[in-house]
Amino acid sequence: MGDTMKAKIISVGNELLMGKTVNTNLTFLSKALQSLGIEVRSAMSIRDEARDIQEALKSSKEDLIIITGGLGPTRDDITKESVCKFYNLELKLHHETQTRIKNYFAKQNREMKSTNEKQAYFPNDAIVLSNNYGTAPGAIIKVAEKTIVLLPGPPSELIPMFAFVKAYLKERTDADIYQSGYLVAGIGESEMEAEMDALYDKHPQVEIAPYADIASIQYIFTSADAKALERALDHFRKRFSEYIVGPYDKTIETRVVETLMAQNKTISFAESCTGGLLAAQIVNVPNVSEVFKESYVLYANSAKIKQLGINQMIIDKFGAVSKQCVYELAYQLAQRTDTDIVLSVSGIAGPSGGTAVKPVGTVYYGLYHEGKTKTYSKIFAGDRNLIRKKATVYGLYLVLKALLHEDNY
Ligand code: ATP
Ligand code: MG
Repeated sequence: MGDTMKAKIISVGNELLMGKTVNTNLTFLSKALQSLGIEVRSAMSIRDEARDIQEALKSSKEDLIIITGGLGPTRDDITKESVCKFYNLELKLHHETQTRIKNYFAKQNREMKSTNEKQAYFPNDAIVLSNNYGTAPGAIIKVAEKTIVLLPGPPSELIPMFAFVKAYLKERTDADIYQSGYLVAGIGESEMEAEMDALYDKHPQVEIAPYADIASIQYIFTSADAKALERALDHFRKRFSEYIVGPYDKTIETRVVETLMAQNKTISFAESCTGGLLAAQIVNVPNVSEVFKESYVLYANSAKIKQLGINQMIIDKFGAVSKQCVYELAYQLAQRTDTDIVLSVSGIAGPSGGTAVKPVGTVYYGLYHEGKTKTYSKIFAGDRNLIRKKATVYGLYLVLKALLHEDNY
C-alpha cells in the first residue's frame, strides 16, 4: 500500500457560520473519503468571501481539496470564480453544460435566466460534473499537483454527484480498501463501547468506527486486509447478534420492510406517544405499500376506546401507559385489520406526566405476531422529541427482532 492520499474539506457558506445550516456535507464526505482509504486531514467552514476562499486554499497542503457550496447562480455564489482566480485558471464557456442547464429549465417549462449563464463557465481541463437535481454543475480540476473538487451545497445535489467523484478517486488511489459493517439497535452506544474494547484490541489491522444515530448505531469496519476484516466481522457478529439489525448501509426501516416482504407479511401500528412517527418512518421506504397496512394515532383515551374498543376499566385501573393497555391495542388492531404483525406504543414523552413508578421516558409496546401478543417496556432518556424518536426506532427494533429471531420470541 502506497502513501495514502490526504484530503481537506472546505465548506463555504455564510449560513453554516450563522448556525442556520448543519454541516451534514462534511460528515457525509468524511465518511465517504474514509471508505476510499483517503485520510481527511482537516476541514474548515468559511464565509462566501473571495478572500476567505483564497486564504483557505493558500493554507491547504493536502493533495485533495473538496470545496462545497457557493456554486449557485446568485452574486454571492463565488466559489468557482475564487478558486480559478487563485490558481490563475481562465473560465471559458462549456457548451455542453450550457445546453444541459437550458434543458433543465426547458423540462420545467421555464426559460434559462441570464444569471445562470455563469454556471456554464469552467477552466479548460476541468471535468464538469453534471447535476441532475439542480442547476449548479460541479467540477474536478487538476492544478498545482492537487485535485480540487467543487460540489454544490444542497445535500440532495451533492450526494448523487459525489458518486462520480467517488469512482474517479477510487481509480486513482492505489490502496485496496475493504469496508463492511453492521447496523445495531436496541442498545446504547456507551453500553456497546464498554464491550467493544476487546474487539478493538483483538483486531488492530481493522479500523472500527461507530456512528451513533438516534437509537441506532452504525459500526463501520475498514481494513486493507480482507481476511482480518472478515475475522473482525465474525467476532462482532458472534458477540452482538441480538442487536444486529442489518448491514451498516441500510436503515432500520428498510430492514423492517424488506424482512416483511421476504416473509410475505403485513404490518400495522397503533400509536399513542409516537403520534405517527412509526408510520412516517416506515413510509420512508419505497414500495412500503406492499407490506404496510395502516397506522392509528390514538392519542386521547377516548380515541383508544372508540376506535379499538379498549375497555375503560383497563385505562382506569392501569392507565393508558401500561402493559395491559398496549396489549389490548395491539391485539384489537390485529383482530380488526387481519395484519400479520401489529405494534402498539404508549408512553410518557414528558416533560410532565411522569410518576415515581412510571417516570418520563417510560414507553410500553404491545406486539402481536403469529397469533400471540407480547408486551415490552423501556425507559428512554432525553427531551420530549428525542424520547418519541427513540421510542419509534426501538419499536422498529422489536418488530425486526420478532421477525428475525422467531425462536426466542
Ligand atoms: P444553489 O444552486 O442551491 O445556490 P450552492 O452551491 O450555491 O447551490 P449554497 O448556496 O452554498 O449552495 O447552499 C445552498 C443550500 O444548501 C443552503 O441553504 C443549505 O441549505 C444547503 N447547504 C449548503 N452547504 C451545506 C452543508 N455543508 N451541509 C448541509 N447543507 C448545506
Ligand atoms: Mg447558493
